[in-house]
Amino acid sequence: MTVAIHPSVDNGIKPAAAGFAGGTLVCHCTQDPVEVKIDSQVLHNHACGCTKCWKPQGAMFSVVGVVPRDKVSVTKNGGKLKIVDEKATIQRHACSACGVHMFGRIENDKHAFHGLDFIHSELSPQSGWAPAGFAAFVSSVIESGVDPNRMGSVRGRLKEIFGGEYYDCLNPPLMDALATHAAKQSGVLKS
Ligand SMILES: [Zn+2]
Ligand SMILES: [Zn+2]
Repeated sequence: MTVAIHPSVDNGIKPAAAGFAGGTLVCHCTQDPVEVKIDSQVLHNHACGCTKCWKPQGAMFSVVGVVPRDKVSVTKNGGKLKIVDEKATIQRHACSACGVHMFGRIENDKHAFHGLDFIHSELSPQSGWAPAGFAAFVSSVIESGVDPNRMGSVRGRLKEIFGGEYYDCLNPPLMDALATHAAKQSGVLKS
């Protein structure tokens, strides 16, 4: 039996369109959906196994990437947005009616990823978004109820989809960015 990871990667990955510069994210409400305009291609898009990211029904992983926060604007029905957890590092602004996360924002300006908002490009009717390029927080799917005995087949499927690019934390470039930021803040690394 094939392991279902996420609808956007399960049946082959669509490549990014050259020159694609963004689109609109729409929540799942049939009436008065929230709309968020993104004036950027998505960056570092990836499958995420954490328990916090929004994922579509039945998916084991979310697919999430980042865009500069100044490229994100709420254009319709923003009054329906609520922050899921005010205390979380990433404040996920979700539609209070359908539960879809429209964007996640880091307000702590000391955080390495401050200035980047987390988005799910699958909420957009436009095509051309950069696809997921790796999987992160793979072991964390156990925390959402995946049987630990299935992890061999989960990783086997991720290997088919992403080659060697699947990790139990973030991928090396993003882990290096976090460590570089920490080293600069502590003064170990002079910028
Ligand atoms: Zn909604
Ligand atoms: Zn996540």
